[in-house]
Amino acid sequence: MWDIILNFSLGLVFAHLSIRVPLLTFPRMKSWNTQFPPHPEPILVDGQLLRRVLDMRNFHWLGILFAIIPLGFGWMSLKYGNAPLGFGMWISSGWAIVSRLTSAIDVDGPPWSKDLAMRLQIVRNEADSEKSCCAFPVPLWEVMSVRCNACGKVLLAESRPDLGRPRSDGWIKGFFRLLLTDGRPIVSPSSEEE
Ligand SMILES: [Zn+2]
Repeated sequence: MWDIILNFSLGLVFAHLSIRVPLLTFPRMKSWNTQFPPHPEPILVDGQLLRRVLDMRNFHWLGILFAIIPLGFGWMSLKYGNAPLGFGMWISSGWAIVSRLTSAIDVDGPPWSKDLAMRLQIVRNEADSEKSCCAFPVPLWEVMSVRCNACGKVLLAESRPDLGRPRSDGWIKGFFRLLLTDGRPIVSPSSEEE
């Protein structure tokens, strides 16, 4: 009985990890982050940040491709005897694929969206225009919102999702936090600051 539960859980965990390999590894390489200040410092809203938001979105979708790995291993486990392990992998990866596909039409979809990139672009445009908050706007994305570093005005009430920078809370803690939150910001923007 226990080994069935253990194998099933192993299958679940293995599949859960495989799907998140792109998000957990690729953007965190050192050479990918030299243009950004270290986590969790505020990050300047510029072209590089916009590209990073779209990259994170792509890595999120790449997870579907990585779900093929546990699906394949799961199929072999089912075929060659270890059914609980196989079921665990199938349930976990199947669920991940379905939830990613439905997130495309869901308003609460992945934390990195084209829509978010567009709203950040509007912040950039406004900072460059006559409507800017002050003479020398410096829009910085803090944990809770995009705020001008020069005058302190909140330019976009949007909490910051994980942006792929190596985590300041250490490799292991950061890893588990990302597994639990899937990169979503833990705090939601407070309406008082608007
Ligand atoms: Zn300003």
